[in-house]
Amino acid sequence: MRAQNILNADLHCHSVVSDGTLTPEILAERAKANGVELWALTDHDEIGGQHRAAAAAKAQGLHYLTGTEISVTFAGETVHIVGLGFDTDDAEMQQGLRNTRGGREQRAREMAESLAKVGIHGAFEGALKFVGNPELISRTHFARFLVESGVCRETPEVFRKYLTEGKPGYVPHRWATLRDAVTWITQAHGVAVIAHPGRYNFSANEEYALFTEFKAHGGQAVEVVTGSHTPQEYVKYAETAREFGLAASRGSDFHSPGESRTDLGALPFLPGDLTPVWELLSDRIQE
Ligand code: AMP
Ligand code: MN
Ligand code: MN
Ligand code: MN
Repeated sequence: MRAQNILNADLHCHSVVSDGTLTPEILAERAKANGVELWALTDHDEIGGQHRAAAAAKAQGLHYLTGTEISVTFAGETVHIVGLGFDTDDAEMQQGLRNTRGGREQRAREMAESLAKVGIHGAFEGALKFVGNPELISRTHFARFLVESGVCRETPEVFRKYLTEGKPGYVPHRWATLRDAVTWITQAHGVAVIAHPGRYNFSANEEYALFTEFKAHGGQAVEVVTGSHTPQEYVKYAETAREFGLAASRGSDFHSPGESRTDLGALPFLPGDLTPVWELLSDRIQE
């Protein structure tokens, strides 16, 4: 039998149901064309695309795990927790995600006011034009508007100049707690995964606290190989997975053909000695 780690699994990406630009159906087609064997759509704070994604996966002959990426506030920073293989009809999970989405519109209006003060007008309406799901207006949609209107050349530049802490369009926001996010996922029979740990601006102590508390709440995995990590970070977080006894996940974090550096499925395999997260979820995979 083929080693479990040698599997083209892509367990992190976004559709128009959050801040991606492709539909679940087109993503499934693209995943298949890129050689993905096991797929999960993980829209931010939202599971509204799950039925479409699972059906599209089936039509393409792709194995599927349910997914989402929950926004969490931990130690004053935004952390993302991916949930995989949970029951999409779980009422507490649905309510928790609804509450997490709840503050986005107000935050977006404040972002637009803040941008107006530096001379960028109409950003709320502008961002809305790019939104597929009105409950899920995100910084990504503002970034697309600022590129379209010629304020910046590309989205990373928008984040650097406007949408990150201390910059004119940034509005601090309180998301779900780590405990709640992990609990929603695990009580719905899924596995919680720390998304792209290399992306956070934590000190070593804060990062240690994140992994320790995540584990204490019942979290079981960490993204090791992701489009958001450098090869050095694959090595670093493989070591963290071993240290904390966590399974490892793999996902591109693909959002859009024009914006994402890593395409669906286009990643190295997980290091051979780590337990792949899909081994914990073998009975949750839809074929
Ligand atoms: P939000 O949930 O509204 O705070 O938006 C977060 C999203 O913005 C992330 O999921 C990414 O898609 C995107 N994002 C965050 N930082 C950057 C960056 N530096 N460059 C490009 N996109 C980013
Ligand atoms: Mn995103
Ligand atoms: Mn993320
Ligand atoms: Mn993501």
